[in-house]
Amino acid sequence: MPSSLELFFTALREQLGAEAVDTNPETLARYGVNLLPGGARTPAGVLFPDSTAQVQAIVRLANTHGVSLWPTSTGENRGLGLKSPVRPGQVVVDLGRRMNRIVEIDETLAYAVVEPGVTYAQMYEELGRRGHTLMMDTTSGPPDGGIVGNTLDKGAGYTPYFDHFGMSCGYEVVLPTGEVLRTSDGASPGAKTQYLSKYGFGPFMDGLFVQSNLGIVTRMGVWLMPKPPVIRAFFFTFPDDADFGDIIELVRPLKLNNVVPTLIKVTSDLYALGTEETYPYERTHGRTPLPNELRKELQAKHGLGAWLVSGAFYGPSEEALQPMIERIKAHFLRSGKARYISHAEAEQSRLLRIHIATFSGQPTRDELDLLRWRPGSGATWFLPATPMVGAIANEHQALSRRILGEHGFEFITEYVCGPRMSRALHLILFNRQDAEERQRAGRCFRALLKAYSDAGYPISRAPIDAQEEAMARLEVLPDVLSRLKKALDPQGVVAPGKYGIS
Ligand SMILES: Cc1cc2nc3c(=O)[nH]c(=O)nc-3n(C[C@H](O)[C@H](O)[C@H](O)COP(=O)(O)OP(=O)(O)OC[C@H]3O[C@@H](n4cnc5c(N)ncnc54)[C@H](O)[C@@H]3O)c2cc1C
Repeated sequence: MPSSLELFFTALREQLGAEAVDTNPETLARYGVNLLPGGARTPAGVLFPDSTAQVQAIVRLANTHGVSLWPTSTGENRGLGLKSPVRPGQVVVDLGRRMNRIVEIDETLAYAVVEPGVTYAQMYEELGRRGHTLMMDTTSGPPDGGIVGNTLDKGAGYTPYFDHFGMSCGYEVVLPTGEVLRTSDGASPGAKTQYLSKYGFGPFMDGLFVQSNLGIVTRMGVWLMPKPPVIRAFFFTFPDDADFGDIIELVRPLKLNNVVPTLIKVTSDLYALGTEETYPYERTHGRTPLPNELRKELQAKHGLGAWLVSGAFYGPSEEALQPMIERIKAHFLRSGKARYISHAEAEQSRLLRIHIATFSGQPTRDELDLLRWRPGSGATWFLPATPMVGAIANEHQALSRRILGEHGFEFITEYVCGPRMSRALHLILFNRQDAEERQRAGRCFRALLKAYSDAGYPISRAPIDAQEEAMARLEVLPDVLSRLKKALDPQGVVAPGKYGIS
């Protein structure tokens, strides 16, 4: 007798066409790959819907046959899971392959409406075709990542539109039972303000669909920013690890008072220069982590210190921005430790150009070269928040350096600073070809998670192989989410286990 999974695929082939279903073992192996310590999680099949109606059909048949699904849009969640499902055997719904249209760009009201497969590179190209009067916010990660997937995982960028969830408006969602919900004003039939009026009528729903498994988003509005005529980045290096607390004290007032429109990055040496280097095993005779003397050598080689601070100003002309540049120079140079690098100088440097690109809404592949640091590109992100208080920031630095060092890994971290908190982007890079090191990377992540949670600093986004554990650390919320899940998805067809919700 055919299994329920086989019956599911047969019904899908009949309803959606054979091209929408792939169960080829090579495809499954490819979709199961991720860069994480927990290793591959192979799905049972991959589906390629071409419309919202097809997503509805998939969800309804999943209910009929008791199959669980895993939605992915562009599937570039590097260091967080790629396209791989949270549990092996789930069926990947790859929305990106065939639902990849920019549905609309409204140049007057500065927004776009996109399907799940629209990538940052694609949107950048389209905005360019229209003369770059509008600018999107992008990540510093894969240009083939996309607006919908990144937003739904609470991803972020660096310009004033950095908060991708905050800048999204009006979702079309296929619920686990197959109905279509339109959020914001979209719930009102014929509404002309779906992509303009974010909060709509009644409880605000959009948040239910980020980092969750309560629906599959098939369309989204995203707000765009008028492109500033001139963008001028600024850079400062600081020589010592211990300067970090002072830097945070210098950055906070700039953001609280809105002096700098972008987020301000405080990037550790190896995060900044790691795109240009690989781990020097020959110099350490195979030992890890990297000794401080070698780290200092690398800093000197690339003209950096222990920290790189960067941000950007926007304005009508170079002359208009010059006073702001002078003001920021005076602010940082007063510390007596900073060295200034101008925009023009930074444009000559591949590693500094990454930051200029991210402040300019321009996708870049260059930061992905960080993944070459150790063989096999093993990578997992640890993403707590650090308050914008120098003393706490220094404690966090010490905690992270200790735990990473004890596990044989480097401190490769970028603090992306707003007025009150910075998102501490820790990239744990490990040799994925070495089973022992892979497991050690997993233990390191868990040690960081425990230490930060115990100290009162939980994470905001988790790789698939740590989502259940991270959610289990929270109180009351897991139970509330579980009740919501049962109400909206009684059969548990959409990604059970995602972000620990089942
Ligand atoms: C060097 C480097 C730099 C990076 N820089 C950044 C950065 O600056 N900012 C940042 O945010 N990230 C960054 N990343 C992490 C990651 O690569 C990006 O966030 C990437 O954009 C996420 O992949 P994606 O956009 O293809 O989304 P996807 O992988 O398609 O989706 C992400 C998750 O959202 C869920 N999802 C996707 N589509 C749907 C849907 N339609 N309905 C319901 N759920 C869905 C899935 O669970 C999926 O796991 C970086 C990674 C690296 C390696």
